[in-house]
Amino acid sequence: MRPIQMVDTKTQYLQIKDEVDAAIHAVLDSAAYINGKAVQDFAASLSSYLGVKHVIPCANGTDALQIAMMAIGLEPGDEVITPSFTYIATTEVVALLRLKPVFVEVDPITFCMDPASLEKAITPKTKAIVPVHLYGQAAPMEEILSIAKKHNLYVIEDNAQAIGCSYTFSDGTVKKTGTMGHIGATSFYPSKNLGAFGDGGALFTNDDTLAHTLKTIANHGQEKRYYHDIVGCNSRLDSMQAAILNIKLKHLDRYNQARANVALFYNQAFENCSAITTPKTAAYSTHVFHQYTILLDGDRDGLIAHLAEKGIPSMIYYPVPGHKQKMFASFNLPESDLTTTDHLTTRVLSLPVHTEMDLEQLTYITDAVLNFINK
Ligand SMILES: *Cc1c(COP(=O)(O)O)cnc(C)c1O
Repeated sequence: MRPIQMVDTKTQYLQIKDEVDAAIHAVLDSAAYINGKAVQDFAASLSSYLGVKHVIPCANGTDALQIAMMAIGLEPGDEVITPSFTYIATTEVVALLRLKPVFVEVDPITFCMDPASLEKAITPKTKAIVPVHLYGQAAPMEEILSIAKKHNLYVIEDNAQAIGCSYTFSDGTVKKTGTMGHIGATSFYPSKNLGAFGDGGALFTNDDTLAHTLKTIANHGQEKRYYHDIVGCNSRLDSMQAAILNIKLKHLDRYNQARANVALFYNQAFENCSAITTPKTAAYSTHVFHQYTILLDGDRDGLIAHLAEKGIPSMIYYPVPGHKQKMFASFNLPESDLTTTDHLTTRVLSLPVHTEMDLEQLTYITDAVLNFINK
């Protein structure tokens, strides 16, 4: 049996090695390492795949979120609402820009932003909402967008974990995650569903003015070289990563299907195990299973140790929610009462899910989990 990993980027690469190597060599031959044709080609393919007007590549997902927040003209102290139950990057950029993070609750079933908690948190200082499509399924965007519209707020989607996921609105319209709010932000970190062989990220928008601002900010605030109109930063996707991503984008739907197949196997194996709550997909969303995350009613540390002994990695995403992170101590945030989030952090456990898992590995993992629980 091949060793079990949380992600297996090596085996995935070997499957498409010829295509990828040729694309890398084409970049080497062109010697256009930054902003070459490969970057423009990838942005064009991704924008057509997502059905979004503008794709602005940048250096990583955290930069994408930061650039998005810089583009909407916020003032220090303005409030940005995010779920507490997310990767730190979502809220880190809020803090970095001296904006005020306001943490809200997630739904205990989908792990995504709870619209009721969101609406309660809105104040006259609220300027933006950042829903996170956590683990690979969409946040309830229809409700979030309608709350945002009512209160005249920006919506920036953190789509780092859900590229390729689709959302169905009640009128039947289907849109890809990351393309529904004012701006979408994503990451091409190697372990993401569409992963580069290094860092990468991108911004999405259908708004021409915002697209222009995002592009300018990512390029030192300049439109004309050496004339800097606004404060920006330096955030670029390099041509080599773009060329690799353009190849991998062609396989993305197949990759996401492979992840969904893994999830289906786990779901069926754990169906009759009362100690395990398997992940549920909301009716309005597809699920691209960036993570396969169970809720365990039992000895989580014991299970993690048992699996580790058998060579099976597992992870807690995330052990400390945003509202409990020390980094926000100087922000004088009000006490948050986020019982669902606190509860989830003590119960979630993510099992390996990636595109190259085989039946032997899956059976080995589910046997190990069930043996521990039923012992
Ligand atoms: C990975 C991730 C990011 C950050 O992406 P990087 O490319 O690592 O900077 C942001 N938000 C979420 C939810 C993520 O999972």
